[in-house]
Amino acid sequence: MELTPRDPSKQQSEPILLRPHHLLCTQGYSGKGYDAAFVEHMDRIVHRLRTEEATPIRLTFSTDELCSRCPNKLGEDHCSTNEKVKAFDAKTAECFHLEEKTYIYQDLVKEIQKNATPEMMDYICGDCQWAPISSCKKNITGK
Ligand code: SF4
Repeated sequence: MELTPRDPSKQQSEPILLRPHHLLCTQGYSGKGYDAAFVEHMDRIVHRLRTEEATPIRLTFSTDELCSRCPNKLGEDHCSTNEKVKAFDAKTAECFHLEEKTYIYQDLVKEIQKNATPEMMDYICGDCQWAPISSCKKNITGK
């Protein structure tokens, strides 16, 4: 799949650090989260991602901007559910051929929506506590 790297000719803000599976969470998010501080921060970041035209993000296979306000973050690259979230990241990267580099979020999301299937979403997110109440599968695959 052809993914769009950051266009260096455009004047852009600092990239937001995001881990691969949060590319999916940010598409399904509807205001629910681990605690009030997490939700307030998630609201702000997701609002930017959903309203801006070209937001640079830098993918990392580690803790990211959204983890920074999460009560489950125990340290850098250390989440209380590390094994699970690392598996989400690895499967997301595998399905959409992602690398640790800078992308434009909105372009990347379009590519993901073009290529994602419900089976792929079950493979990546089947074990996620939020899957039963999140709109991620529907928003991403349209099914
Ligand atoms: S649960 Fe873990 S991966 Fe998810 S936002 Fe919190 S620290 Fe990050």
